[in-house]
Amino acid sequence: MRAFSYGRPDSVDAALRGVAGQPGTTTEAAVKFVAGGTNLLDLMKADVMRPERLLDISRLGLDQIEEIENGGLRLGALARNADTAYDARVQARYPMLSKAILAGASAQLRNMATNGGNLLQRTRCYYFYDTGTPCNKREPGTGCGALTGVNRIHAILGASDRCIAVHPSDMCVALAALDAVVRVSGPKGERTIPFADFHRLPGDTPHIDSNLAADELITAIDLPAEGFADHSTYLKVRDRASYAFALVSVAAALKLDGQTIRSARLALGGVAHKPWRDPAAEAGLAGKPASLETFREAARVLLRDARVQSHNAFKIGLAERAIVRALAEAAGVEHS
Ligand SMILES: Cc1cc2nc3c(=O)[nH]c(=O)nc-3n(C[C@H](O)[C@H](O)[C@H](O)COP(=O)(O)OP(=O)(O)OC[C@H]3O[C@@H](n4cnc5c(N)ncnc54)[C@H](O)[C@@H]3O)c2cc1C
Ligand code: SF4
Repeated sequence: MRAFSYGRPDSVDAALRGVAGQPGTTTEAAVKFVAGGTNLLDLMKADVMRPERLLDISRLGLDQIEEIENGGLRLGALARNADTAYDARVQARYPMLSKAILAGASAQLRNMATNGGNLLQRTRCYYFYDTGTPCNKREPGTGCGALTGVNRIHAILGASDRCIAVHPSDMCVALAALDAVVRVSGPKGERTIPFADFHRLPGDTPHIDSNLAADELITAIDLPAEGFADHSTYLKVRDRASYAFALVSVAAALKLDGQTIRSARLALGGVAHKPWRDPAAEAGLAGKPASLETFREAARVLLRDARVQSHNAFKIGLAERAIVRALAEAAGVEHS
C-alpha cells in the first residue's frame, strides 16, 4: 500500500475546504473522502486507486433519515446501508429499496457501508482489480482486458469498445427506479443531480464513473413520495445465494388499476455501466393488462439493443426471464 495522508474534518465546510480546487470528477481526484471504507480501502490495498490524501467524513453527522416536504424521505449520505434498509419508513414506503440493499454484500459490510459510498463503489471487473492487465478504467489508454478475456459478468447494454464493465450496486438499481435525487454540496453551494444523470456510460472516458465533481460531497439522497409500496420488488440473480454481485437484477414497480397497468418503472442491474432504464419499455407497459404476455413484450423492448461478448450471451435470456418474473411478482400475477 502506498503512503497517503489522513484528515478528519468535523463539518461539511471543512470537508469541502479539504477538496477545494481539485479539477475534474471525483473518480480522478487525488484527495478522496472515505466513509465506510469498504470499497476504497480494498482498492488502495490492491494498488488500483492511489489517492494522496484521505478525508474521513464518517463524523460529519450526515447520517439521519428524515421526512421531507414533498412527502418523501431524505437518506443521509452517511447513514449506513443496514440502518437505511431496516428503517421502518423505508421498509413500509420503499420496500423495493430495502430489499435491494439487503440483497447486497453481507450483514457486516452493510453495517459499515454508507449510502454515499454505495453510489460511488467501483466496478467488480476482474481486470480492473488486476494491475498486471490492461484496463482503460484503471489506466486510460492501456486497453480493455475483458474484451478479449473472460467477460461472463460484463455488460450487454450501453457498453463501448473501451469498456464493458457493469456497475455493481444493488441499492442504485432501486434508487434509479424510484427516480431518487442526489444532493451534493460544493464550492458554489448545493445542487441536486437526478439519479439518471449521476452515473455515466463508459463511452471514450470509462475511467470516469459519475458526474460528481472532485470538489463536491454527497450529502443526501432524496426519495420522492411515490414509493410503489403496493406493487414492487427487487429480484437479484447471482452465482451464489448470498454474498455475490448480481449477474442480472431487476427493480420493478407498477401502479395498477385493477389488473390494468397505469404506469411502470423498470431498472436493470448487472447489465450496464449504470443502472439501466428504458423509457420505451416503461411507456409500453402503460395501459396494458398485467399479464405474462405484456411482461415478455416489455423484456423484449428493453433488451432490443443488447450486444453480447464471447462469454455472456446467457445474460440476455437470464435478463428476459428475470424481468418477466420481477414484473409478475410486483403485479401479484402467477408465474411458474
Ligand atoms: C466482499 C464485498 C461484497 C460486496 N457485495 C455487494 C453486493 O452484492 N451489492 C452491492 O451493492 N454492493 C456490494 N458491496 C459493495 C459495498 O456495498 C460498498 O463497498 C459500499 O456500499 C461502499 O460504501 P462505503 O461507505 O464503505 O464507501 P467507501 O469505500 O468509503 O467509499 C467509496 C467511494 O465513495 C466515495 N464517497 C463515499 N462517501 C462519499 C460522499 N458522501 N461524498 C462523496 N464521495 C463519497 C469515496 O471517496 C470512495 O471513492 C460489496 C463489498 C464487498 C467488500
Ligand atoms: S471492462 Fe472496463 S474495467 Fe474491465 S478491463 Fe475493460 S476497461 Fe477495465
